[in-house]
Amino acid sequence: MTSLAGATQDEVRRSNLALVLTMLHRHGPRSRSQIVASTGLNRSTVGDLVSELVALGLARESAGVGQGVGRPSLVVEPVAGAAVVVALDIRVERSVASLYGLGGELLARHERRHHQPSFTTLVRHVAELTQRVLARAPAGAAWVGTGVGVPGVVRTEDGLVRFAPNLGWVDVPLGNDLSEALSQRSGWSPPLQVRNDADLGARAEHLRGSGRGADTLVFLTGDIGIGGGMLVDGRPLTGAGGYGGEFGHMRVNPRGIICRCGARGCWETEIGRLALMRNAGVDEDTEVGVLLQEAESGNRQAMAAIERVAGWLGVGLANLVNIVNPQVVVLGGHLHHVYAVAGPRVDREVGRALTAAREQVRVTVTDLGGDATLIGAGELAFASLLEDPVGILAACERAS
Ligand SMILES: [Zn+2]
Repeated sequence: MTSLAGATQDEVRRSNLALVLTMLHRHGPRSRSQIVASTGLNRSTVGDLVSELVALGLARESAGVGQGVGRPSLVVEPVAGAAVVVALDIRVERSVASLYGLGGELLARHERRHHQPSFTTLVRHVAELTQRVLARAPAGAAWVGTGVGVPGVVRTEDGLVRFAPNLGWVDVPLGNDLSEALSQRSGWSPPLQVRNDADLGARAEHLRGSGRGADTLVFLTGDIGIGGGMLVDGRPLTGAGGYGGEFGHMRVNPRGIICRCGARGCWETEIGRLALMRNAGVDEDTEVGVLLQEAESGNRQAMAAIERVAGWLGVGLANLVNIVNPQVVVLGGHLHHVYAVAGPRVDREVGRALTAAREQVRVTVTDLGGDATLIGAGELAFASLLEDPVGILAACERAS
């Protein structure tokens, strides 16, 4: 009886510790009274939890700015250098690595361009990038996880990339091989998780971006391919095997061209970056920025190319609005710029969705720059520490 009651009490304490650490990580410094108010825990419990986080090195307290009369209250803040994660974004033309500290602070970022590298070469490049960002970790920081985004369909349990057409990958063991490469270089490596890049983007927009506060959200990002991620009631909707959310291969135009997936008229073939260039009659490698400048300086063909993509973007979005009934649709990659230049054209098509769902949706653009995938990968890598700070820190200490 005693041990059962003890275990339960310990579980409650651990889950409260997770609650307070998660709050500090996601929302930044706050006073003890604010923590009391938003968690509903009593004052002395919050005091104990804060002391425990301070003892673990994950939080510190400093004198905040006084408000009115009386002593200024202490402010509790996360210690960025206490725990770090590596976030990796593998794209078609380059790979990017970031090091984030607790609280989401960006501590280092490096990228490397590549042109159709072999899988083995790419793993080596990404491992090198990881080492470069880790070299910038503050002394004593615990490396608690690695998150990887990739433009493809991923088996989540082991990071096997089932299909990444724009990288030319079919059934590639990215999770295992990268994890092994990182262990070899650093002596050890914490758990590494691979996900679809846009699923991570959706997570980032929900936690730290334009979709903050929205629990039902669609994130759509454009590069050569179109990536999509979806959260329903705050949970990622990825399907039975984790392969859902392939919005780019929604077939919209029966008279369209053949997609890299083999089907005709996929959404990606109408709104991907190559469609933009094809419509404009310019070289495939033209930068999106160049085309936007042309359009803004009155080049009619450039403007028509963007308008055409905007139209198809709206057609697909109207379908998604009808099916998902999201509160927010966040656009990233070149779709961000398409919306900025030709938003009314997109909105006109979205306006053809059914009234009830249309009235609830807000279409907006990312405010995370090009880093939504990286930020989402970082949040994924932090998740286990936030759930069990004591256990994860102990595991890191044993392993390193
Ligand atoms: Zn397709």
